[in-house]
Amino acid sequence: MKYWSYFIAKLAVIYGMLALIWKGFHAVWPEPEPFMRVKQDPFAHDLGYTLAVLVFGLVAVGMVYLALLDQRYRCRACLRRLRMPLSRGGWNHVLLGPPRTEYICPWGHGTLRVSDVPFASPERSDWRPINDMWKELEDLQETRK
Ligand SMILES: [Zn+2]
Repeated sequence: MKYWSYFIAKLAVIYGMLALIWKGFHAVWPEPEPFMRVKQDPFAHDLGYTLAVLVFGLVAVGMVYLALLDQRYRCRACLRRLRMPLSRGGWNHVLLGPPRTEYICPWGHGTLRVSDVPFASPERSDWRPINDMWKELEDLQETRK
């Protein structure tokens, strides 16, 4: 729940920033002059305006993409960035052990396995929570006593 709330909050911030940019853009951009007493929408009639709107669209898509990319590599439990990428598998045996990268939460909440093969069947990232990694170590110590 915390994970998705954080993502929704990021999208809300992006939406707010884009709305401010959009309003600022329209406050600065001059009104088009009517052509034969008909006021036209400048989009697709004014090259500068159309290019600016297209660049704005690209910036908006880029910001959402960066939010998605950032969210993908966050811990599902504590929202910290996942660290310590570890390469597994290999390109010489793609069918049996495809190349992938594993990330881990610095606080030990879980691991994320990301496929390095972009053309593999739907790209899946596999989050695996670690229940209690310290309990296993404590059990080992208690059995040695
Ligand atoms: Zn974590």
